[in-house]
Amino acid sequence: MSRTNEAMAGKTSLGEEIVSRINQLAAISETPDNITRIFLTAEHRAAADLILSWMREAGMSAHLDAIGNVCGRYEGERPGLPCLMLGSHYDTVRDAGRWDGPLGVITAISCVADLNKRGRRLPFAIEVAGFADEEGVRFASTLLGSRAVAGTFNERVLTSKDEAGVSMREALVQFGLDPEHIGAAARVRGELLAYIELHIEQGPVLEAQGLPVGVVTAIAGATRLAARVTGMAGHAGTVPMALRRDALAGAAEIISKIEELCLTDGRGLVGTVGYIHASPGATNVIPGQVHFTIDLRAPTDVHRNRALADISRQIDAIAKRRNLELRLDVTHENRTVPCAPWLKAQVEQAVSAEGYPVFELPSGAGHDGMAMVDIADVAMVFVRCRGGISHHPDEHVEVADADAGARVLLRLIENFRPNS
Ligand SMILES: [Zn+2]
Repeated sequence: MSRTNEAMAGKTSLGEEIVSRINQLAAISETPDNITRIFLTAEHRAAADLILSWMREAGMSAHLDAIGNVCGRYEGERPGLPCLMLGSHYDTVRDAGRWDGPLGVITAISCVADLNKRGRRLPFAIEVAGFADEEGVRFASTLLGSRAVAGTFNERVLTSKDEAGVSMREALVQFGLDPEHIGAAARVRGELLAYIELHIEQGPVLEAQGLPVGVVTAIAGATRLAARVTGMAGHAGTVPMALRRDALAGAAEIISKIEELCLTDGRGLVGTVGYIHASPGATNVIPGQVHFTIDLRAPTDVHRNRALADISRQIDAIAKRRNLELRLDVTHENRTVPCAPWLKAQVEQAVSAEGYPVFELPSGAGHDGMAMVDIADVAMVFVRCRGGISHHPDEHVEVADADAGARVLLRLIENFRPNS
């Protein structure tokens, strides 16, 4: 039966079911008029319980693991087979959109429900992971859920505290979990055949291409730096222009240079200065010191590292010419995670079998696959979102695109062949 006939016969498409659940989950929030679902809060727990119920309804056994991940398992042709793991996260940023994270979890559950309805069992198990914390809003440490599953959770973060002074250890206990058992959430390589995540693109590329879905090539690595420019504070009226060592004017030229180098790169380099602070910060004082951040991403590590070296050299020259002192400290670095070629090829086949042109793009944003790659090969499917808007209440996915994503994922699951 064609899609149109199905709709006419009153059947709900996968997309419609997914959107209805996205809306149900979006209603579970810290405040009624926006979407905020932070790690280990009451609404986080309510969301977990709702997802667990959907998993059970879809024919999966389901439980909450020691970090708060929602874990569902649909057995294969016989119990105990290695699994294809699908997943994404169910926490949100503050004042979030409804699709970032939940779309991947809900779509995966809908695919399993569809198999279950047809009594279809595959030569492998399917597991769906709803990761508890990807965004890292509460404890300023990201990928907590997937790191626990990958066995790379750093126990030291248990002592980190949120804004209210509650430690992660205390919050886990309040949630009903045992922090001593986080190690038990870890899986090993042999249990997973692959990890596949469907996620909204969070950028405008698919929309510009007129395509509902895209095949991710890699999750771009990132380097974040703290920059400090030191000059000399002085009186805004008495120090002649030629004698000034204005840290803010210098920082402005440096920031423009970073933008220019990224703009002219042409190979996917992106750089952002998202924070700046000038001191002493008075109208009539020449700024003596400026702190700002740099976030640099590129599709490969080699590219990013080369770009970083080039940027450092060029902005250092600007500082020298202006008689300023520039200090750069790397505060965060994560490597690029390429999607496994064998797995990406299967994503491409599924996209093409559903009648869409195969379009490849890198992910500029970080995802749970960055942690999962330690125990499994990873691949990602991107779904178009309106205007590329994300981490914002206006984040939006059309029903037809949610449906396209689900059909691609379902076909991918049904045709999945482990790497031989
Ligand atoms: Zn996300």
